[in-house]
Amino acid sequence: MPLCTSTSDLTQTLAPWRKQGGKIGFVPTMGALHDGHGSLVTRALSENDCVVVSIFVNPTQFNNAADLEKYPRPFEQDLTFLNAIDPKIVVYAPEATDLYRGEVVSKSYRFGAIASEMEGRHRPGHFDGVGTVLNLLFRAVEPTNAYFGEKDFQQLQIVRKLVELENLPVNIIGCTIHRAEDGLAMSSRNRRLTPEQLAAAPFIYKTLKKAQEDFKHKSIPAIVREAEAAFAAHPILELEYFEIAGIHNLKTAYRKHPSNTYRAFLAAFAGEVRLIDNMGLN
Ligand code: AMP
Repeated sequence: MPLCTSTSDLTQTLAPWRKQGGKIGFVPTMGALHDGHGSLVTRALSENDCVVVSIFVNPTQFNNAADLEKYPRPFEQDLTFLNAIDPKIVVYAPEATDLYRGEVVSKSYRFGAIASEMEGRHRPGHFDGVGTVLNLLFRAVEPTNAYFGEKDFQQLQIVRKLVELENLPVNIIGCTIHRAEDGLAMSSRNRRLTPEQLAAAPFIYKTLKKAQEDFKHKSIPAIVREAEAAFAAHPILELEYFEIAGIHNLKTAYRKHPSNTYRAFLAAFAGEVRLIDNMGLN
């Protein structure tokens, strides 16, 4: 499987595809790959001539040093995982100084109001880091199509905005959330959960499912109150936020408007591990 550890390696590896005018699909990841990543890669393979998967734990999007340090990095396992999907996948795993061409710092973006809601509010600087690294990755890979999970729904909206702001010629494709049988959204951070926390974590999915059901007949404040009360009584999970928002502006919603589309979003801690999830309500 082609492995490019520098941007110049990648340029060389992709040159024949570019010459032929082939479609390049791109799946950016931070590694510790699971079937959620796999679902994006499989879709990219079915819609492009060549697929690049980047593995890069981006320092500038972590607002918590311990979270960055403890982020799992099972690189050899990741290569085996991708090789089993398709040995033609191009893996791009650059060094930070190579990708950033020097100092590893964030640019400051004007993403507008969507960046100050939810993840933006609770993780200051996070979306500037995400925007900075994706801008660099997009310029290195020059993909036709790039694939992002709705698992990080707010990030997906930020990426669409980034592409507009940076005027990048790439189609952004959102992919549905891949879940374990018990409903837990797959996440690299799940590897850090103890067996007890792992058994408790599907409560997140159950709470979102209940909100989805209740959305048919209850008010938004009532749904939010009940979700908050359910977490307050939970012995293992600690809620950071539970919000219902319209999918376009991601502003906290208090009332339902018939023409709008809503999702419920939450972040919760299992010990030190921060988990996020979301679900469409209508
Ligand atoms: P990450 O490695 O966590 O940065 O994720 C890389 C990409 O995979 C992002 O676009 C995520 O939204 C997506 N992703 C992560 N987990 C899932 C999942 N359970 N289902 C679908 N996509 C996912």
